[in-house]
Amino acid sequence: MAPKNFDGIMSNSGSNKNKNTLPPDDDGISENTPHSSADETNEGQDESLEEILLQELLQKTGQLQKTEKELTEIRQELNITRQLIACQTNGIIFLDQQLRIIYANNLFCSITGRDLPNLNEKKIDQFVLLPEPGQHFETIIQKAMHWGSWRGEVLIKENDSGRLPMIMSLNYRDQEGDTESTEGFVCRFSPQEMKETELTMHSSSRLSYDALTGLPDRPSFQYHFSFCIEQARVKHAFIGLLFIDLDHFKRINRMLGPGVGDELLCSVTALLKQCGNAVGADFIARLSGDEFAIILPPPTNVKQAEQLAERILKKFQQPVTIKSRDIFITPSIGISLYPDDGESPPELLRNADTAMEMAKARGGNTHCHWHSEMDTQAVQNLHLENDLRKAVANGDLFNHYQPQIDLTNGIIVGMEALARWEHPVHGSISPVIFIPIAENTGLIEELGLDLVLLACKEGCEWMKMGFKNFTMAVNLSGSLLRRNDLFEQIMECLKTTGFPPTSLEVEFTESVLIENMDNTLDLINKCRQEGIKMAIDDFGTGYSSLSYLQRFAVDKIKIDRSFIMDVTTNASDAAITMAIIAIAKKLNFQVLAEGVEYEDQLFFLQENQCDECQGFLFSKPITAKQMTNLLMRDSSIALKHKRIIDKFYSIKAQDD
Ligand code: C2E
Ligand code: CA
Ligand code: CA
Repeated sequence: MAPKNFDGIMSNSGSNKNKNTLPPDDDGISENTPHSSADETNEGQDESLEEILLQELLQKTGQLQKTEKELTEIRQELNITRQLIACQTNGIIFLDQQLRIIYANNLFCSITGRDLPNLNEKKIDQFVLLPEPGQHFETIIQKAMHWGSWRGEVLIKENDSGRLPMIMSLNYRDQEGDTESTEGFVCRFSPQEMKETELTMHSSSRLSYDALTGLPDRPSFQYHFSFCIEQARVKHAFIGLLFIDLDHFKRINRMLGPGVGDELLCSVTALLKQCGNAVGADFIARLSGDEFAIILPPPTNVKQAEQLAERILKKFQQPVTIKSRDIFITPSIGISLYPDDGESPPELLRNADTAMEMAKARGGNTHCHWHSEMDTQAVQNLHLENDLRKAVANGDLFNHYQPQIDLTNGIIVGMEALARWEHPVHGSISPVIFIPIAENTGLIEELGLDLVLLACKEGCEWMKMGFKNFTMAVNLSGSLLRRNDLFEQIMECLKTTGFPPTSLEVEFTESVLIENMDNTLDLINKCRQEGIKMAIDDFGTGYSSLSYLQRFAVDKIKIDRSFIMDVTTNASDAAITMAIIAIAKKLNFQVLAEGVEYEDQLFFLQENQCDECQGFLFSKPITAKQMTNLLMRDSSIALKHKRIIDKFYSIKAQDD
């Protein structure tokens, strides 16, 4: 063994001599040392062993220096590689053979919301999910080992709750010369690498559909929307989201039966598809019962989203025909835009939902674009809704009454009951605010009839006082009209209070009448038989259809305040007012002008033979107590009214 070694070293020794090699003694022999031939041999051997060891030491030192240099180079290389990986726009992780994470780049860390030490040594399946049922990492690994790589769709667990769809490319690391410790897998996650065709293919294979409408369902929406947002994030593009909810759908469903409700939802689906397709928004989903969502793909902006909303609203202006029955349905639409109105899919959906609620609070059949103050407004509305609930339960709502005057003699011939809410903190809240809240929460059903009952009760008191010849007008909202037992409820109010049916007048707006045609006709006929009067409120602001007027055969038309306001200065308002009065006369309806504030308005109305009026000129809506006083002092008040009327006639006489 040894000689072989020596041979090996010796063969190099001569050539290996260098300045580091220690020189032998001059003659190579120590003077004082006796030299036997054996000794000489030993000495020679020792010498060469020394030299050999020395050479070996030198060689190893050289190798070590080289390795250190190489190591520095490798370190530098590694550093550069790390930096390169870190700044990649793809998420990247390295796995060992047991599928444990041994390295993750910044992007992957930020998606998962964890830093490297937190990911280190953790199994991949804690952060990356395989969406296909029955898919396992083990089978994927087998494929990757066989083919060298695997590519497919995965979901990365975002921070705490989200799931981010990505394409994962998994490569097997088995380069020649690699030691066993470096064997494993590299995973690259890329949203942007997908081509459009791949996107639709991938998406559609993952989508589940709603059985009734055939639209993608809520989970599919969430999946697809997340994907779109991710795409938009990479491309720095905008995405629009429209959240659509049908107004009063639940009541329609209840009234017409779920069969008709289902058909209605299918017709609505067709309408939404038409509108969406026309502007390239081909992803429409049904989120739940009567909630739909439309994704407006890039390039888009607020204006385009609002235009789509307008298009939808316009489409719904026509009735939907189901089983040869015309049904009017309206939507409320909320809009949010990525990235201005939210960064993540849940945030954008929540904001579009808030905006939709705002559209509903504005009476529905409209659209709203989300803005940050809406959250506070929505919270305020929520508080108000709770307070209103309590107020209704406690009977804290009451009526004010506004007198209605006969224009020929100035006498109070009627009054309108107007709801009032005295809020303990906010003071008096207008019915314009709380009636829509009550409508949207269903509270109106309770509230509406409570106030009708109160109006009948207070009306009875005035009758007992001897003030018998007046009509009590009550406002009934559209949602009350949809109650099947509305007529019975009204009769119940009359029966409990003893108020005469012939003195009660029920007011509906035109749109409420027309949108609930069948029910209204039935109600009008029944009421008519009992002698209850019917009035059309806010006339001129809605359909103003003469054929409808004839069909409903109501008793009174109330000209909307907006025409009366400028009736003496605006020629078209004057023309419309005169036309309405003429039509009413022709059809034998009474006609009343709302919102009369000034004498010249009154004179105009008298001149044009309007029958009655109501407005601040005579009286604002007043409390029941004030009304009692007014009626008690009726002679004096009537005198005031009479004075105004007389003034008109005296001016008229002078003119003549
Ligand atoms: P409306 O039925 O058209 O009631 C007339 C509104 O005009 C009342 O507003 C009244 O105070 C106001 N008004 C009357 N004369 C004048 C005037 O000369 N000038 C001005 N500027 N305004 C005048 P109010 O009381 O705020 O009620 C607003 C609306 O709320 C009502 O409009 C009605 O649609 C609704 N509403 C009120 N009470 C009820 C109710 O008990 N049930 C239902 N469903 N709706 C109600
Ligand atoms: Ca009214
Ligand atoms: Ca009105």
